[in-house]
Amino acid sequence: MARIGVLSIQGDYERHEQALERIGAFPVRVLRAADLAGLDALVLPGGESTTIAKGLTRLSLWDPIREFAASGRPLMGTCAGAILLARESENHPVPTLALLDARAVRNAYGTQVDSFAAPADPDSAPGFAGLRCVFIRAPVLTDLGSSVETLVKVEGRPVLVRQGNVLACTFHPELTEDTRVHRLLLSTSREEGSSWTGRSTSGTSTPTSSPGPSTTSRAPTGGFGRTA
Ligand code: GLN
Repeated sequence: MARIGVLSIQGDYERHEQALERIGAFPVRVLRAADLAGLDALVLPGGESTTIAKGLTRLSLWDPIREFAASGRPLMGTCAGAILLARESENHPVPTLALLDARAVRNAYGTQVDSFAAPADPDSAPGFAGLRCVFIRAPVLTDLGSSVETLVKVEGRPVLVRQGNVLACTFHPELTEDTRVHRLLLSTSREEGSSWTGRSTSGTSTPTSSPGPSTTSRAPTGGFGRTA
């Protein structure tokens, strides 16, 4: 049985645990570097990226999570977790892991439609047809690097992307009964090892080598509408 870690600092980690149990995986709460040992994959849940980032500092988890990624094991960040995976964030920037070559614009759908559900666009990857995506004060991913593959789009925007062993999802797959996104993480964990070509595993030429959190010098812009 695959052991999938769920970062449990804050947010809806219990819903991820339930989703993982539904697909036959064994969820493991992660609050210390030692908890990462023996895991097949790791989930960074949705919640408040500011709070989770502070917890990562308090628990000294930035580098252990980067090392986890450099080992080739898959990570999936959902909503706040996707923000934390990004190269940089804007609109009240938070420190990030810089494991995904994309910028995350926080709360990018604005206050009027800050929570909504929408179906995957028809031109999303086969296998995700009809996926219902629940967005809660969601970020938008922009400036995707060339090695970032978009798997699901909603209203033309990338909402599930993959770069090597890193999956980022701006919606909440753990809040519906549809297990396809969690199953993708599980299947990625089974494929990894030989197929991971996204970056060096040496730890010397990757974003994972920088000590401490990555910060952005960009000023807050106030949302996607003003940056699109
Ligand atoms: N708005 C939150 C943030 O910027 C993310 C919301 C969520 O994870 N549902 O951190």
